[in-house]
Amino acid sequence: MQTIAEQYVRLVLALGLHDPDYVDAYYGPADWKPAAKTGLDELRTRATTLSNELNKVPAPADPMERLRHAYLTQQLSSVAARIAMLNGQKFPFDQESQALYDATAPVQPESHFQEILAALEKRFPGKGPLVDRYDAFRRPFRIPKDRLDKVFQMAIAACRERTMRNITLPEGESLTVEYVTNKSWSGYNWYQGGFKSLVQVNTDLPIYIDRAVDLACHEGYPGHHVYNALLEKHLVKDRGWIEFTVYPLFSAQSLIAEGTANYGIEVAFPGEERVEYEQQVLFPAAGLDPASARGYYEVQALVDKLAYAGNEAARRYLNGEIDATQAAAWLEKYALTPHDRAAQRVRFFDQYRSYVINYNLGKDMVRAFVEKRAAGDRARRWQEFAALLSSPRLPSGLR
Ligand SMILES: [Zn+2]
Repeated sequence: MQTIAEQYVRLVLALGLHDPDYVDAYYGPADWKPAAKTGLDELRTRATTLSNELNKVPAPADPMERLRHAYLTQQLSSVAARIAMLNGQKFPFDQESQALYDATAPVQPESHFQEILAALEKRFPGKGPLVDRYDAFRRPFRIPKDRLDKVFQMAIAACRERTMRNITLPEGESLTVEYVTNKSWSGYNWYQGGFKSLVQVNTDLPIYIDRAVDLACHEGYPGHHVYNALLEKHLVKDRGWIEFTVYPLFSAQSLIAEGTANYGIEVAFPGEERVEYEQQVLFPAAGLDPASARGYYEVQALVDKLAYAGNEAARRYLNGEIDATQAAAWLEKYALTPHDRAAQRVRFFDQYRSYVINYNLGKDMVRAFVEKRAAGDRARRWQEFAALLSSPRLPSGLR
Protein backbone atom coordinates (compact mmCIF):
# COMPACT_ATOMS: atom_id res chain seq x y z
CA MET A 1 0.00 0.00 0.00
CA GLN A 2 2.92 2.32 0.69
CA THR A 3 3.94 2.34 -3.01
CA ILE A 4 0.36 3.00 -4.09
CA ALA A 5 0.14 5.77 -1.47
CA GLU A 6 3.23 7.47 -2.89
CA GLN A 7 1.87 7.23 -6.44
CA TYR A 8 -1.44 8.68 -5.21
CA VAL A 9 0.37 11.70 -3.74
CA ARG A 10 2.22 12.27 -7.02
CA LEU A 11 -1.03 11.92 -8.97
CA VAL A 12 -2.81 14.52 -6.78
CA LEU A 13 0.13 16.91 -7.17
CA ALA A 14 0.08 16.41 -10.95
CA LEU A 15 -3.65 17.13 -11.10
CA GLY A 16 -3.03 20.27 -9.04
CA LEU A 17 -1.26 21.77 -12.06
CA HIS A 18 -4.61 21.63 -13.91
CA ASP A 19 -6.70 23.07 -11.07
CA PRO A 20 -5.41 25.86 -8.77
CA ASP A 21 -7.95 25.04 -6.00
CA TYR A 22 -7.22 21.31 -5.94
CA VAL A 23 -4.16 20.87 -3.71
CA ASP A 24 -5.26 22.52 -0.49
CA ALA A 25 -2.19 21.48 1.50
CA TYR A 26 1.02 19.58 0.82
CA TYR A 27 3.93 19.09 3.18
CA GLY A 28 5.51 15.90 1.82
CA PRO A 29 8.86 15.71 -0.02
CA ALA A 30 9.35 18.93 -2.00
CA ASP A 31 10.89 17.13 -4.98
CA TRP A 32 7.70 15.10 -5.55
CA LYS A 33 6.07 18.22 -6.97
CA PRO A 34 6.02 17.79 -10.75
CA ALA A 35 7.85 20.43 -12.78
CA ALA A 36 5.68 20.09 -15.87
CA LYS A 37 2.02 19.39 -16.64
CA THR A 38 0.94 15.87 -17.54
CA GLY A 39 -2.10 15.52 -19.84
CA LEU A 40 -5.45 14.66 -18.24
CA ASP A 41 -5.79 11.43 -20.29
CA GLU A 42 -2.47 10.22 -18.95
CA LEU A 43 -3.54 11.13 -15.39
CA ARG A 44 -6.81 9.24 -15.86
CA THR A 45 -4.85 6.13 -16.90
CA ARG A 46 -2.64 6.48 -13.83
CA ALA A 47 -5.70 6.76 -11.55
CA THR A 48 -7.29 3.66 -13.09
CA THR A 49 -4.05 1.66 -12.81
CA LEU A 50 -3.61 2.63 -9.15
CA SER A 51 -7.23 1.71 -8.34
CA ASN A 52 -6.77 -1.68 -10.00
CA GLU A 53 -3.55 -2.32 -8.06
CA LEU A 54 -5.22 -1.33 -4.80
CA ASN A 55 -8.13 -3.69 -5.54
CA LYS A 56 -5.65 -6.56 -5.66
CA VAL A 57 -4.37 -5.74 -2.15
CA PRO A 58 -6.46 -7.83 0.26
CA ALA A 59 -8.33 -5.78 2.90
CA PRO A 60 -6.08 -5.78 5.99
CA ALA A 61 -7.18 -7.31 9.32
CA ASP A 62 -6.00 -4.37 11.47
CA PRO A 63 -8.87 -1.83 11.81
CA MET A 64 -6.69 1.26 11.15
CA GLU A 65 -5.02 -0.46 8.16
CA ARG A 66 -8.46 -1.36 6.86
CA LEU A 67 -9.57 2.29 7.14
CA ARG A 68 -6.43 3.26 5.24
CA HIS A 69 -7.23 0.80 2.45
CA ALA A 70 -10.82 2.07 2.16
CA TYR A 71 -9.61 5.68 2.34
CA LEU A 72 -7.13 5.26 -0.53
CA THR A 73 -9.75 3.43 -2.60
CA GLN A 74 -12.25 6.28 -2.21
CA GLN A 75 -9.66 9.06 -2.64
CA LEU A 76 -8.52 7.50 -5.94
CA SER A 77 -12.13 7.34 -7.07
CA SER A 78 -12.55 11.05 -6.14
CA VAL A 79 -9.41 11.87 -8.17
CA ALA A 80 -10.87 10.07 -11.19
CA ALA A 81 -14.14 12.03 -10.87
CA ARG A 82 -12.28 15.35 -10.66
CA ILE A 83 -10.23 14.43 -13.75
CA ALA A 84 -13.48 13.71 -15.62
CA MET A 85 -14.87 17.10 -14.54
CA LEU A 86 -11.72 18.93 -15.66
CA ASN A 87 -12.07 17.05 -18.94
CA GLY A 88 -15.45 18.73 -19.39
CA GLN A 89 -17.81 16.08 -18.01
CA LYS A 90 -20.82 17.62 -16.22
CA PHE A 91 -22.33 15.54 -13.42
CA PRO A 92 -25.74 16.26 -11.90
CA PHE A 93 -25.28 17.77 -8.43
CA ASP A 94 -26.00 14.62 -6.37
CA GLN A 95 -23.92 12.39 -8.62
CA GLU A 96 -21.03 14.84 -8.37
CA SER A 97 -21.17 15.01 -4.55
CA GLN A 98 -21.38 11.21 -4.33
CA ALA A 99 -18.36 10.80 -6.64
CA LEU A 100 -16.22 13.45 -4.95
CA TYR A 101 -17.38 13.42 -1.31
CA ASP A 102 -18.84 9.93 -0.83
CA ALA A 103 -22.21 11.40 0.23
CA THR A 104 -25.49 12.83 -1.09
CA ALA A 105 -27.41 15.59 0.66
CA PRO A 106 -31.10 14.93 1.39
CA VAL A 107 -33.58 16.95 -0.67
CA GLN A 108 -35.58 19.42 1.43
CA PRO A 109 -38.84 20.79 0.04
CA GLU A 110 -39.69 24.49 0.42
CA SER A 111 -42.28 23.54 3.08
CA HIS A 112 -39.46 22.41 5.39
CA PHE A 113 -37.96 25.91 5.38
CA GLN A 114 -41.35 27.64 5.46
CA GLU A 115 -42.08 26.28 8.96
CA ILE A 116 -38.86 27.80 10.28
CA LEU A 117 -39.47 31.03 8.39
CA ALA A 118 -42.95 31.25 9.94
CA ALA A 119 -41.38 31.18 13.41
CA LEU A 120 -38.99 33.96 12.37
CA GLU A 121 -41.88 35.97 10.89
CA LYS A 122 -43.44 35.92 14.35
CA ARG A 123 -40.18 37.06 15.91
CA PHE A 124 -39.76 39.92 13.37
CA PRO A 125 -43.27 41.07 12.41
CA GLY A 126 -43.52 43.83 9.79
CA LYS A 127 -43.62 44.68 6.11
CA GLY A 128 -41.13 43.95 3.36
CA PRO A 129 -38.91 40.88 2.93
CA LEU A 130 -38.15 39.00 6.16
CA VAL A 131 -34.44 38.95 5.27
CA ASP A 132 -34.35 42.75 5.54
CA ARG A 133 -35.97 42.73 8.99
CA TYR A 134 -33.58 40.01 10.13
CA ASP A 135 -30.65 41.94 8.69
CA ALA A 136 -31.71 45.12 10.52
CA PHE A 137 -31.92 43.14 13.77
CA ARG A 138 -28.40 41.81 13.27
CA ARG A 139 -26.80 45.15 12.42
CA PRO A 140 -25.88 46.10 16.03
CA PHE A 141 -24.09 42.75 16.43
CA ARG A 142 -21.27 43.58 14.03
CA ILE A 143 -17.78 43.47 15.44
CA PRO A 144 -16.28 46.98 14.99
CA LYS A 145 -13.31 46.80 12.60
CA ASP A 146 -10.85 48.17 15.12
CA ARG A 147 -11.78 45.43 17.62
CA LEU A 148 -11.83 42.56 15.12
CA ASP A 149 -8.35 41.18 15.73
CA LYS A 150 -8.62 41.47 19.50
CA VAL A 151 -11.97 39.63 19.53
CA PHE A 152 -10.70 36.90 17.20
CA GLN A 153 -7.54 36.35 19.21
CA MET A 154 -9.61 36.02 22.41
CA ALA A 155 -11.97 33.53 20.75
CA ILE A 156 -9.05 31.49 19.41
CA ALA A 157 -7.40 31.41 22.85
CA ALA A 158 -10.69 30.23 24.44
CA CYS A 159 -11.21 27.51 21.81
CA ARG A 160 -7.60 26.37 22.15
CA GLU A 161 -7.81 26.22 25.92
CA ARG A 162 -11.01 24.13 25.81
CA THR A 163 -9.49 21.82 23.21
CA MET A 164 -6.24 21.34 25.11
CA ARG A 165 -8.12 20.30 28.23
CA ASN A 166 -9.48 17.35 26.23
CA ILE A 167 -7.10 16.55 23.37
CA THR A 168 -3.31 16.17 23.47
CA LEU A 169 -2.05 18.46 20.73
CA PRO A 170 1.35 17.92 19.09
CA GLU A 171 4.17 19.90 20.67
CA GLY A 172 4.92 23.16 18.84
CA GLU A 173 1.55 23.49 17.09
CA SER A 174 0.54 27.06 16.29
CA LEU A 175 -1.83 29.14 14.21
CA THR A 176 -1.41 32.56 12.59
CA VAL A 177 -4.29 34.85 11.55
CA GLU A 178 -4.32 37.15 8.50
CA TYR A 179 -7.04 39.49 7.23
CA VAL A 180 -7.73 39.42 3.48
CA THR A 181 -10.27 40.71 0.94
CA ASN A 182 -11.85 39.73 -2.37
CA LYS A 183 -12.56 36.03 -1.68
CA SER A 184 -15.63 33.83 -2.19
CA TRP A 185 -15.27 32.36 1.34
CA SER A 186 -15.43 34.03 4.76
CA GLY A 187 -12.55 32.16 6.39
CA TYR A 188 -9.89 29.65 5.30
CA ASN A 189 -7.27 27.45 6.92
CA TRP A 190 -4.12 26.89 4.89
CA TYR A 191 -2.30 24.05 6.65
CA GLN A 192 1.46 24.45 6.31
CA GLY A 193 2.73 21.16 7.80
CA GLY A 194 4.92 20.97 10.89
CA PHE A 195 1.75 21.53 12.99
CA LYS A 196 1.35 25.12 11.70
CA SER A 197 -1.73 26.73 10.16
CA LEU A 198 -2.32 30.03 8.44
CA VAL A 199 -5.92 31.17 8.94
CA GLN A 200 -7.27 33.89 6.66
CA VAL A 201 -10.36 35.90 7.54
CA ASN A 202 -12.16 37.70 4.72
CA THR A 203 -13.20 41.24 5.67
CA ASP A 204 -15.12 42.06 2.44
CA LEU A 205 -18.40 42.02 4.37
CA PRO A 206 -19.25 43.00 7.97
CA ILE A 207 -18.37 40.31 10.52
CA TYR A 208 -20.98 39.52 13.16
CA ILE A 209 -20.18 38.49 16.70
CA ASP A 210 -21.16 34.82 16.23
CA ARG A 211 -18.44 34.45 13.61
CA ALA A 212 -15.68 34.93 16.20
CA VAL A 213 -16.25 31.64 18.04
CA ASP A 214 -17.52 29.91 14.90
CA LEU A 215 -14.40 30.74 12.90
CA ALA A 216 -12.01 30.22 15.82
CA CYS A 217 -13.41 26.71 16.36
CA HIS A 218 -13.96 25.86 12.69
CA GLU A 219 -10.62 27.02 11.28
CA GLY A 220 -8.62 26.47 14.46
CA TYR A 221 -9.50 24.56 17.60
CA PRO A 222 -10.83 21.82 17.51
CA GLY A 223 -11.49 22.28 13.75
CA HIS A 224 -9.21 22.29 10.71
CA HIS A 225 -5.97 23.16 12.47
CA VAL A 226 -6.38 20.37 15.03
CA TYR A 227 -7.60 17.87 12.41
CA ASN A 228 -4.58 18.49 10.18
CA ALA A 229 -2.14 18.50 13.09
CA LEU A 230 -3.51 15.22 14.48
CA LEU A 231 -3.41 13.54 11.06
CA GLU A 232 0.19 14.69 10.65
CA LYS A 233 1.14 13.47 14.14
CA HIS A 234 -0.67 10.12 14.23
CA LEU A 235 -0.73 9.04 10.60
CA VAL A 236 2.23 10.74 8.89
CA LYS A 237 4.82 10.94 11.69
CA ASP A 238 3.88 7.88 13.78
CA ARG A 239 2.88 5.50 10.96
CA GLY A 240 4.63 6.93 7.90
CA TRP A 241 1.37 7.13 5.88
CA ILE A 242 2.59 9.57 3.27
CA GLU A 243 -0.82 10.03 1.58
CA PHE A 244 -1.87 12.33 4.41
CA THR A 245 0.78 14.90 3.50
CA VAL A 246 -1.46 15.97 0.61
CA TYR A 247 -5.01 17.21 0.92
CA PRO A 248 -6.98 17.23 -2.35
CA LEU A 249 -9.83 19.66 -1.71
CA PHE A 250 -12.39 18.01 -4.01
CA SER A 251 -12.29 14.65 -2.28
CA ALA A 252 -14.09 12.65 0.42
CA GLN A 253 -11.66 13.91 3.04
CA SER A 254 -13.37 17.31 2.78
CA LEU A 255 -16.68 16.07 4.18
CA ILE A 256 -14.85 14.84 7.28
CA ALA A 257 -12.81 18.07 7.44
CA GLU A 258 -15.78 20.46 7.19
CA GLY A 259 -18.10 18.24 9.20
CA THR A 260 -15.67 17.95 12.13
CA ALA A 261 -14.84 21.68 11.92
CA ASN A 262 -18.53 22.65 12.20
CA TYR A 263 -19.46 20.03 14.78
CA GLY A 264 -16.36 21.03 16.76
CA ILE A 265 -18.05 24.33 17.66
CA GLU A 266 -20.65 22.56 19.80
CA VAL A 267 -18.08 20.15 21.19
CA ALA A 268 -16.00 23.08 22.46
CA PHE A 269 -19.03 25.10 23.63
CA PRO A 270 -21.79 22.64 24.56
CA GLY A 271 -25.27 23.82 25.57
CA GLU A 272 -25.38 26.99 27.66
CA GLU A 273 -21.61 27.43 27.70
CA ARG A 274 -21.61 29.29 24.42
CA VAL A 275 -24.02 32.05 25.52
CA GLU A 276 -22.34 32.31 28.92
CA TYR A 277 -18.94 32.79 27.32
CA GLU A 278 -20.30 35.33 24.84
CA GLN A 279 -22.02 37.31 27.64
CA GLN A 280 -19.06 37.29 29.97
CA VAL A 281 -16.16 37.71 27.56
CA LEU A 282 -16.75 38.34 23.86
CA PHE A 283 -19.67 40.78 23.89
CA PRO A 284 -17.83 43.15 26.28
CA ALA A 285 -14.62 42.77 24.23
CA ALA A 286 -16.52 43.72 21.06
CA GLY A 287 -18.24 46.64 22.81
CA LEU A 288 -21.67 44.95 22.52
CA ASP A 289 -24.37 44.80 25.18
CA PRO A 290 -24.00 41.45 27.02
CA ALA A 291 -27.71 41.52 27.93
CA SER A 292 -28.56 41.10 24.23
CA ALA A 293 -26.47 37.92 23.77
CA ARG A 294 -29.17 35.40 24.67
CA GLY A 295 -31.77 36.88 22.32
CA TYR A 296 -29.24 37.03 19.51
CA TYR A 297 -28.30 33.37 19.86
CA GLU A 298 -31.95 32.29 20.08
CA VAL A 299 -32.52 33.88 16.68
CA GLN A 300 -29.29 32.40 15.32
CA ALA A 301 -30.37 28.92 16.42
CA LEU A 302 -33.54 29.31 14.33
CA VAL A 303 -31.67 30.68 11.32
CA ASP A 304 -29.13 27.82 11.56
CA LYS A 305 -32.01 25.42 10.89
CA LEU A 306 -32.18 26.97 7.41
CA ALA A 307 -28.64 25.75 6.61
CA TYR A 308 -29.83 23.11 4.12
CA ALA A 309 -31.45 25.85 2.04
CA GLY A 310 -27.93 26.57 0.78
CA ASN A 311 -27.69 23.02 -0.60
CA GLU A 312 -31.03 23.40 -2.35
CA ALA A 313 -29.98 26.68 -3.98
CA ALA A 314 -26.67 25.13 -5.08
CA ARG A 315 -28.32 21.95 -6.38
CA ARG A 316 -30.87 23.86 -8.49
CA TYR A 317 -28.30 26.37 -9.71
CA LEU A 318 -25.61 23.84 -10.64
CA ASN A 319 -28.19 21.57 -12.29
CA GLY A 320 -29.11 24.53 -14.48
CA GLU A 321 -32.68 24.84 -13.16
CA ILE A 322 -32.15 28.43 -11.96
CA ASP A 323 -29.63 31.16 -12.86
CA ALA A 324 -27.26 33.10 -10.59
CA THR A 325 -29.79 35.85 -9.82
CA GLN A 326 -32.47 33.31 -8.94
CA ALA A 327 -30.01 31.36 -6.78
CA ALA A 328 -29.18 34.52 -4.83
CA ALA A 329 -32.90 35.28 -4.48
CA TRP A 330 -33.49 31.72 -3.21
CA LEU A 331 -30.78 32.19 -0.58
CA GLU A 332 -32.30 35.50 0.51
CA LYS A 333 -35.77 33.98 0.82
CA TYR A 334 -35.09 30.53 2.28
CA ALA A 335 -31.70 30.85 3.98
CA LEU A 336 -32.23 34.51 5.06
CA THR A 337 -28.87 35.37 3.52
CA PRO A 338 -28.61 39.16 3.05
CA HIS A 339 -28.23 40.39 -0.53
CA ASP A 340 -24.46 41.04 -0.60
CA ARG A 341 -23.68 37.77 1.23
CA ALA A 342 -25.98 35.86 -1.15
CA ALA A 343 -23.99 37.14 -4.14
CA GLN A 344 -20.79 35.97 -2.40
CA ARG A 345 -22.38 32.53 -1.79
CA VAL A 346 -23.24 32.13 -5.48
CA ARG A 347 -19.61 32.92 -6.36
CA PHE A 348 -18.71 30.14 -3.89
CA PHE A 349 -21.08 27.75 -5.77
CA ASP A 350 -19.31 28.63 -9.03
CA GLN A 351 -15.88 27.96 -7.58
CA TYR A 352 -16.53 24.99 -5.27
CA ARG A 353 -19.81 23.52 -6.62
CA SER A 354 -21.23 20.56 -4.61
CA TYR A 355 -18.57 21.15 -1.92
CA VAL A 356 -21.36 23.06 -0.09
CA ILE A 357 -22.85 19.80 1.28
CA ASN A 358 -19.71 19.15 3.33
CA TYR A 359 -20.60 21.87 5.83
CA ASN A 360 -24.14 20.98 6.92
CA LEU A 361 -24.48 17.34 5.88
CA GLY A 362 -20.91 16.77 7.09
CA LYS A 363 -21.75 18.28 10.47
CA ASP A 364 -24.89 16.17 10.87
CA MET A 365 -23.09 12.95 9.86
CA VAL A 366 -20.16 13.62 12.20
CA ARG A 367 -22.50 14.54 15.07
CA ALA A 368 -24.56 11.35 14.66
CA PHE A 369 -21.38 9.22 14.53
CA VAL A 370 -19.69 10.78 17.57
CA GLU A 371 -22.79 11.07 19.75
CA LYS A 372 -23.87 7.49 19.18
CA ARG A 373 -20.47 6.32 20.40
CA ALA A 374 -20.27 8.80 23.27
CA ALA A 375 -23.75 7.85 24.54
CA GLY A 376 -24.37 11.18 26.30
CA ASP A 377 -21.03 11.32 28.13
CA ARG A 378 -19.25 14.67 27.62
CA ALA A 379 -15.70 13.40 28.21
CA ARG A 380 -16.28 10.46 25.89
CA ARG A 381 -17.60 12.87 23.28
CA TRP A 382 -14.22 14.58 23.20
CA GLN A 383 -12.43 11.19 23.04
CA GLU A 384 -14.55 9.91 20.16
CA PHE A 385 -14.17 13.25 18.38
CA ALA A 386 -10.37 13.18 18.81
CA ALA A 387 -10.25 9.58 17.55
CA LEU A 388 -12.15 10.60 14.43
CA LEU A 389 -9.76 13.55 13.90
CA SER A 390 -6.81 11.14 14.08
CA SER A 391 -8.07 8.45 11.71
CA PRO A 392 -8.64 8.06 7.96
CA ARG A 393 -12.37 7.49 8.26
CA LEU A 394 -14.56 8.12 5.22
CA PRO A 395 -18.04 9.66 5.04
CA SER A 396 -19.59 6.24 4.24
CA GLY A 397 -17.73 4.86 7.28
CA LEU A 398 -19.65 7.25 9.56
CA ARG A 399 -22.96 5.47 8.97
ZN1 LIG B 1 -13.75 24.83 6.56
